[in-house]
Amino acid sequence: MADPQGFLKTTVRETPKRRPVPVRIMDWKEVYEKGDAAVLKRQAGRCMDCGIPFCHTGCPLGNLIPEWNDLMWRGEGRAAIERLHATNNFPEFTGRLCPAPCESACVLSINQPAVTIKQIEQATIDDAWTNGWVEPEPPSRLTGKTVAVVGSGPAGLAAAQQLTRAGHTVAVFERDDRIGGLLRYGIPDFKMEKDQLDLRLRQMRDEGTRFRAGVEIGRDITWPELQDRYDAIVLATGSTVPRDLDIPGRDLAGVHFAMEYLVESNRAIAGDEVANQITAEGKHVIVIGGGDTGADCIGTAHRQGALSVTNLAIGRRPEDARPEHQPWPMDPHVFEVSSAHEEGGERVFLASTVEFLSNDAGEVRALRVAETEYVDGRRVPRSGTEREIPADLVLIAMGFTGPERAGIDEQIDAPFTARGTFVREDDFATPVPGVFVAGDAGRGQSLIVWAIAEGRAAAAKVDEFLSGSTVLPAPVKASDVAISVLPA
Ligand SMILES: Cc1cc2nc3c(=O)[nH]c(=O)nc-3n(C[C@H](O)[C@H](O)[C@H](O)COP(=O)(O)OP(=O)(O)OC[C@H]3O[C@@H](n4cnc5c(N)ncnc54)[C@H](O)[C@@H]3O)c2cc1C
Ligand code: SF4
Repeated sequence: MADPQGFLKTTVRETPKRRPVPVRIMDWKEVYEKGDAAVLKRQAGRCMDCGIPFCHTGCPLGNLIPEWNDLMWRGEGRAAIERLHATNNFPEFTGRLCPAPCESACVLSINQPAVTIKQIEQATIDDAWTNGWVEPEPPSRLTGKTVAVVGSGPAGLAAAQQLTRAGHTVAVFERDDRIGGLLRYGIPDFKMEKDQLDLRLRQMRDEGTRFRAGVEIGRDITWPELQDRYDAIVLATGSTVPRDLDIPGRDLAGVHFAMEYLVESNRAIAGDEVANQITAEGKHVIVIGGGDTGADCIGTAHRQGALSVTNLAIGRRPEDARPEHQPWPMDPHVFEVSSAHEEGGERVFLASTVEFLSNDAGEVRALRVAETEYVDGRRVPRSGTEREIPADLVLIAMGFTGPERAGIDEQIDAPFTARGTFVREDDFATPVPGVFVAGDAGRGQSLIVWAIAEGRAAAAKVDEFLSGSTVLPAPVKASDVAISVLPA
């Protein structure tokens, strides 16, 4: 185990510093400074190597957390990255972006702050890239079987890497002009710079995975054509249909879905010319929705020079500490201050949106909101509390209702659940022979760590389907759920 007395000697949780707000909102670089090696070692040394490592149950990937904590504490980074890669294809994504349910389940967190698992994960992979320890792992033999992966987010990429390494010939189809799914055009650089994605894609190309960007399946190639050309298909098309806000004035100029705004911003940061870009510069901005997408809009608006940013959430302000009804090792719903919230703006809870108000030019000028009250378990605007919040730009970040159908239901008769996701068995197979589903397309809006876990598990089932047996790991079943419910 890591230092047997580490948790007694070091009782303080130390995480890397965020760059000062006035400095970081002047650029798009990652918010966090590089962690100090001595601090990291000290923190890794706090891991108790518990007989029953509950952190494993918090992590959908089943990451072998105490093992790599120990190795990082000993300074054996090369061995640590091998243990980390044994369960996680992309620790650079989760190390930066995962909400770390493992830390909520850390045994030390019962009476001390949890081990900084996520930061140790990030440092392990960052050191590995720096030292050249991440190398392509091409298959030793080819099976002659072909797989089409549709969608290049974390679920599709994880499935593709696993299947390529198993010897199948894999092509990833992506309708966007660049590969990466939400990692590319959803999540801003201040959370994860895109060179992290590009490094991993280079490794995948060198292993033999083929990427076909700018190809929409269902339109450029039909689903039956894809079935004819490939022995198996993995649908990893994400949950991309945004939840709308059906109140008067929704069609006014200046009211947009969050993803319209974030995609354009990410394109501009990547150096693309974006005609008539939606920007927050010099505007009063309202972001409706309190989740990750909303926070990304807030951080982007600050960097674009918004005059003000107001974030509305319909629910109550979460409690500061773990609520009694969400005991350890559950991942509790607590009040969090993300880096974007720290950068300024106002957060309003229990806010009910009533109406978008227009100026003479048909542009939004304000949003009418009221306080929310609960009547018979339903959230309704409390009468007499209505007020106007000035706004030139309103971003709707209220989550996603499910995958787009893209003609698949008509072309190959793939059925959908009442929730709008693809119907699938516990082994990720749809009722259409040879077609499997991984990630948000099957689970609904979720997290990167779940997308990677599903991509790995679906790959195992595809391998078994193609080869009759498999040695690939399947960390989750389609029906598995987190040991908590995170806010949307
Ligand atoms: C703004 C935002 C911020 C987020 N931040 C976080 C975070 O910090 N941490 C976290 O854990 N999770 C976060 N999430 C959630 C996380 O990004 C998703 O759960 C994850 O990306 C899902 O992965 P996926 O591979 O299933 O789908 P996606 O990443 O959505 O990728 C699906 C891809 O399929 C492509 N596609 C769809 N249809 C077709 C077709 N017919 N033909 C070809 N291509 C197609 C799409 O263009 C897309 O690129 C965030 C989500 C959003 C929207
Ligand atoms: S992927 Fe997420 S849950 Fe798993 S060890 Fe890393 S931070 Fe924890």
